[in-house]
Amino acid sequence: GDFANEVDTLVIGSGPGGYVAAIRAAQLGQKVTIVEKGTLGGVCLNVGCIPSKALISAGHRYHNAKHSEDMGVTAEGVSINFDKVQEWKGSVVKKLTGGVEGLLKGNKVEIVQGEAYFASENSVRIMDEKSSQTYNFKNCIIATGSSPIELPSFKYTERVINSTGALALKEVPKKMVVIGGGYIGIELTGAYSNMGTEVVVLEGGKQILPGFEKQMSKLVEKRLKKNGVAFHTEALAKGVEETENGVKVTAEVKGKEEVFEADYVLVTVGRKPNTEELGLEQIGVEMTERGLIKTDKQCRTNVSNIYAIGDIIEGPALAHKASYEGKIAAEAIAGEKSEIDYLAIPAVVFSDPELATVGYSEQEAKDAGYDIVAAKFPFAANGRALSLNDTDGFMKLITRKEDGLVIGAQIAGPNASDMIAELGLAIETGMTAEDIALTIHAHPSLGEITMEAAEVAIGTPIHIV
Ligand code: FAD
Repeated sequence: GDFANEVDTLVIGSGPGGYVAAIRAAQLGQKVTIVEKGTLGGVCLNVGCIPSKALISAGHRYHNAKHSEDMGVTAEGVSINFDKVQEWKGSVVKKLTGGVEGLLKGNKVEIVQGEAYFASENSVRIMDEKSSQTYNFKNCIIATGSSPIELPSFKYTERVINSTGALALKEVPKKMVVIGGGYIGIELTGAYSNMGTEVVVLEGGKQILPGFEKQMSKLVEKRLKKNGVAFHTEALAKGVEETENGVKVTAEVKGKEEVFEADYVLVTVGRKPNTEELGLEQIGVEMTERGLIKTDKQCRTNVSNIYAIGDIIEGPALAHKASYEGKIAAEAIAGEKSEIDYLAIPAVVFSDPELATVGYSEQEAKDAGYDIVAAKFPFAANGRALSLNDTDGFMKLITRKEDGLVIGAQIAGPNASDMIAELGLAIETGMTAEDIALTIHAHPSLGEITMEAAEVAIGTPIHIV
C-alpha cells in the first residue's frame, strides 16, 4: 500500500538468528515484524543443520543394520527407499518450520514474505513478486545469513551441486566427488557413504576438518576410509566436464593431474555472507574486507539503531551462535546491558565418531599463555561405550594448572555433541576439575567419561592408570 507501516523492531531473515531475535524482542514488549524472502527457519532448518542430521541418522540406521555382526546381529535384505528417506526428512523440516511460524505468531510477531532492502537508516522496502511496501522501524536486526560459495569453474547444475543440492538428491549416488573437507563436506560424506555411496574427498589443505586437532580428524578419516571413502589432500580441483549421466572432475593432486568420474560432484568450499543485496552501502554500514558486517559487543553496527547477527558477522558460522546473538541484540534494543561473551561456543561435527569442542584447545591455551593440564580419558575405558560397541575416541579436558579451572574441552566419540554441553556449562560457571570430579555421574553412561577426565586432571582417576 501507500502508507508506511510503523514498527519498533524489524528483523530481516528468519534463520536461527532472526527468529530467535524476533521472539526475544517481542517478549521484551516490542512491536516486531520479521521479513523472510525464502522459508521460515532459514538455512539451518530448511537446508542446513536439521536436514543434514536427518540424512545422517538414516545413514546410521542403514549402516548399523548391515554391520552389527560383531554383536551377533545380522539382517538380510536391508535396503534403502531413498524417496521415503527424503519424505521423512521433509516431514522433520516441516514440523520445525511450522513450529517456528507458530512461535512467532504466538508471540504476536508479524511475518512478512518478501525481500528487504534499506531505503534509509529507518526504513526498508519489502518486495515480493506482486507488490512492494515500506516499513519504518526504530531498530533493525539484520540476520540474512550466508550462501554457498560458487567456484567459477564449478557452476552449479543438476550434477555439480552444493550442500542444498546434496540434501535434496533423489537417489543415493553410486559415486560422488566431494570438494572441500570442512565439516559440511565431511558430514555429507559420512551420510552418503553410510548409505553406500563411493565417495572421493578432495581437500586443498593438508588435513580434513581444519580447526580440529589432528588426533580428532584422524579418527574420522579412519572410520570413513573403512567405509571406502578415498581422501586426497593438497588437491586442487580445477574443472568439471559433464558427461551423459555424470561428471568428470579434474584435479591437481600434489602437483599431478588426475581425473575423477562420478555421478555428482559436491562443492563445499565455504560460504559467503548475504550482505551484498541489502543496500547497506547507502546507509553507511561498515563492513570487513570479507563482506561481514562490523558489530560491537551488543551486535550493534556503526549505525546505532541497526544490529547484525549470525553468519553475516565475525565468528564461527553456527546456528547456536546466531541464536545467542539474536537474544543479545533484542535485549540491547530493549536497553538491557547484555553483551556477547564468546568464551564457550561449542563446535560440533556430526561425523563418525562425532567431534565436539568448547573453549580452548590445548594449543590455543598454550598460545594464550596459560600454564595448563591437558587430561585425557579414552572412550574404550568406559562401560557404556563398550556396551554400545562404539569405543573410538577420547575426551581431553584443558584446565588451568594453578587452580584447576576448566577452560576447554575436546571430545571425539559417540554422542560428543551432547556431552559437550556439560563442559560448556562448566566453563560458563567457572567450575574446576574438582567440581566435576565430585559430581556423581550415573553409571553406566558416557557422562562418566567427563567425570573421569576431571579425575585425570586432578590425579585421581579410577579406571585408568
Ligand atoms: P540463515 O539461517 O542463513 O537465515 C537467513 C535467512 O535470511 C534466510 O532464510 C534468507 O532467505 C533470509 N534473507 C536473506 N536476505 C534477505 C532479505 N534481503 N530479505 C528477507 N530475507 C532475507 N550450524 C550448526 O550450528 N550446527 C549444524 O549442525 C549445522 N549444520 C549445517 C549443515 C549445512 C549443510 C549447512 C549449509 C549449514 C549448517 N550449519 C550448522 C550452519 C547454520 O545453518 C548457520 O550458521 C545458520 O543457519 C545461520 O543462521 P542465520 O540466522 O545467521 O542465517
